[in-house]
Amino acid sequence: MKEIILAYQGEMSLKGLNRATFESVLLKTMRRRLKSLGSFKIYKAQSTMYAEPVGDEDIDEAEDRISKIFGIATISRAAVCPKDFDVICDTAKEYLRDALMQAKTFKVSARRSDKTFPLNSMEIGRELGHILLEAYPHLKVDVHDPDVNVTVEIRDFAAYVHGGKKPGAGGLPVSTSGKAMLMLSGGIDSPVAAYMMAKRGLSLACAHFASPPYTSERARMKVLTLARKLTPYTGNLNVYIVPYTAAQEYIRDNAPDVLFTVLMRRSMMRITKMLCEKENADAIITGESLAQVASQTLKAIACTDAAQDLPVLRPCIGMDKCEITDIARKIDTFETSILPYEDCCTIFTPPHPKTKPSLEEIEEAEAGMPGLAELEAKAAQEAQVEYINL
Ligand code: ATP
Ligand code: MG
Repeated sequence: MKEIILAYQGEMSLKGLNRATFESVLLKTMRRRLKSLGSFKIYKAQSTMYAEPVGDEDIDEAEDRISKIFGIATISRAAVCPKDFDVICDTAKEYLRDALMQAKTFKVSARRSDKTFPLNSMEIGRELGHILLEAYPHLKVDVHDPDVNVTVEIRDFAAYVHGGKKPGAGGLPVSTSGKAMLMLSGGIDSPVAAYMMAKRGLSLACAHFASPPYTSERARMKVLTLARKLTPYTGNLNVYIVPYTAAQEYIRDNAPDVLFTVLMRRSMMRITKMLCEKENADAIITGESLAQVASQTLKAIACTDAAQDLPVLRPCIGMDKCEITDIARKIDTFETSILPYEDCCTIFTPPHPKTKPSLEEIEEAEAGMPGLAELEAKAAQEAQVEYINL
């Protein structure tokens, strides 16, 4: 039996004039993400995207990949059949056998966008309902909360039969909201921040600060693994590995201990902004969460924000660790994130960092570091790009 995946759009259908652009981005994204699986015909009709295997391509894997594409609200995997009522009934009986055998209740939902089909939606529902009750006498009809929602869609090219829609990834197609640079550490939070902002339609590049020999090659590899795990959601990622040792040692040696963390975070922000210029990115994303650590108090965040003028997006700001961890597990970054390698943010940290630094004292400390700007420019210049492709 020929199967197909139908992907229905969500929020973007609200967006009026942008809709055509969004749909074309979505089609391109689907083509790119399924490319390595072989030959799929990907097209749209009536606000629905179709992914149709040409031969015996792996449709389970295709369904999994499509379920991670932002901009798709719901998905169904359907059997395709000719627009002939008897064939549709046989297809429903056969294709949904396992689901119907396990179910106690069902209903039939029919949608007829091809109005030349001789039965209307109500008639299809009623007739097919009878036939299924005869074929599966243990079943009862429940129109409110059925175990299986037997769905028939009579569309332009064919009829489609499936067991109901499943939720897709939601959000907006990646790149339709512009581009931002994610500050990617090896921790739990920043990959989750990437997922959340990609969901709002941003395409991403990443900046990772490494301070060898204080941070290891394994820590660097871990970050690249995280980036790879994000690509099913974000698409291709350019990851800039910033050699940060010299600037970081300079701050350690020339500034008051208690201000070290905030000074370092400002310095990282300035470098990230330089990378944004290279990548044409218009915002910075971090995984910060309010009050999680000393550098994430309101005062410290205010000082960090004042370091440069791009907007800083912090999607995890109001979430607690459990909520962040739930998402990290869902997107399969958690197990990698908890590998115990050091991060540059956790080396040289003073035992009692100041939790309420003032911008005045921060700027005064920076005035005492005349060599820092040059080291920052050099770090941005010498950042190596790793191309993480789908
Ligand atoms: P995470 O779990 O993402 O590491 P965290 O709670 O450990 O976050 P911090 O270490 O204070 O918090 O870092 C806050 C944010 O700063 C991170 O979410 C990330 O966006 C950024 N960041 C931290 N370390 C690095 C790094 N080495 N390179 C790039 N960005 C970093
Ligand atoms: Mg961290």
